Amino acid sequence: MSGAPTSPSPARLLLRGGTVVDTDPHVTARPDTDVLIEHGVIAAVGHGLSAEGAEVLDARERIVLPGFVDTHRHVWQSVLRAVAVDSDLGDYLGLVLGRLSPAMRPEDVYAGNLVGALECLDGGITTVQDFSHVQHRAEHGDAAVRGLRAAGIRAVFGYGYPPFDPAARDPRHVRDLRERLFAGDGPDDLVTLALAPGGPSYTPIELVEEDWQLAADLDIPLAVHVGSGPVARRPIEALRERGLLNARTLYVHGNSLPDDELAMIADSGGALSIAPAIEAQMGHGAPMINRARALGLVTGLGVDVVTSTPGDMFSLLRAALLTSQLADGERLFAADVLRMATIGGAAALGLADRIGSLAVGKQADLVLLRTDTVNMVGAAHDPAGAVVASAHPGNVDTVLVAGRTVKQAGRLTHPARIEAVTAARSAAEHVAAAI
Ligand SMILES: [Zn+2]
Repeated sequence: MSGAPTSPSPARLLLRGGTVVDTDPHVTARPDTDVLIEHGVIAAVGHGLSAEGAEVLDARERIVLPGFVDTHRHVWQSVLRAVAVDSDLGDYLGLVLGRLSPAMRPEDVYAGNLVGALECLDGGITTVQDFSHVQHRAEHGDAAVRGLRAAGIRAVFGYGYPPFDPAARDPRHVRDLRERLFAGDGPDDLVTLALAPGGPSYTPIELVEEDWQLAADLDIPLAVHVGSGPVARRPIEALRERGLLNARTLYVHGNSLPDDELAMIADSGGALSIAPAIEAQMGHGAPMINRARALGLVTGLGVDVVTSTPGDMFSLLRAALLTSQLADGERLFAADVLRMATIGGAAALGLADRIGSLAVGKQADLVLLRTDTVNMVGAAHDPAGAVVASAHPGNVDTVLVAGRTVKQAGRLTHPARIEAVTAARSAAEHVAAAI
């Protein structure tokens, strides 16, 4: 059940004559290439494909690429945009999680998740890992899931506990939410469930064990913030000692972790989500993008918080590239960060068999970028490089999720996009009154 009020997917859709940028096994660009979609799945990629029985979309003057995957974002904070632009991590925690989060009503969470997910889609992010640590009450979780579903985005909903509200950590709420909202979830559901607990850096190991057991009982993946301390100075080693390292855990940030702990993550089959813009801005530690690559970690990119940084992947691609230039170690190139934003993110979320590239058989999560614009003209020289170096959300012409059109001719198709903005504005005013 997606519940998404988006256009129905045509049985056959042919994207005709685009510049197709694929990202796996490496970044390639093919001019004048068609993409055929059947029942929401990529059926063929090639030149001169038959349009028989298909709706045809003219993709000339467009770059066609896989939808972006944001592997770490607190979507509920979309109603708190730019409240912490000049804050370091400590100030952000005190203001946003300490004072504003408790003021969020379920309707504010719904408004934040709907408008935040629409912002993702508007900029070509077709999949988001929503680390949703605003569940002060069970109703907040329901509202968050409904907001994602209403947007029509593909999402991994990470049920999280508010860090400064210990009473809200109630595993029964997670079990109950799964029963009610994810009972029938199958491979075609756009929104799936994960657990996003405090983790070993911030929670006593006894509670960590309970959380890991809950995820195992529910057969759902985990996502956790990690760093050296304040609870465990070596959190990954702490997990290893308890037998809790597993391949279904996504570790977020980790700038302060030493290489040997990052190697433990790699050995376990777990993955890393880095948020280069926010880590640099808030002072999480030295950029780690080069270390992650050197250690062979499956790595995706995350916006993290729009309280302090932009919510689009183009900005993040640039941040990733710049921090790589500044960090120790072997630098990355444009193609590397483009892979992190697509197939790398998909792999980090355990979804690489379904999304992240344009392979036949994958879900048709696609983005079409205009190249007949003042900032993209000339992109034919290096289309992938232009995506990383020059593009912005205003170039996003068309976005498909599982073959459904969620943005067309530069406009979101969601019928309630205006109301979503109005509701988010009301929520922002309500929460701001708590300052
Ligand atoms: Zn975060």
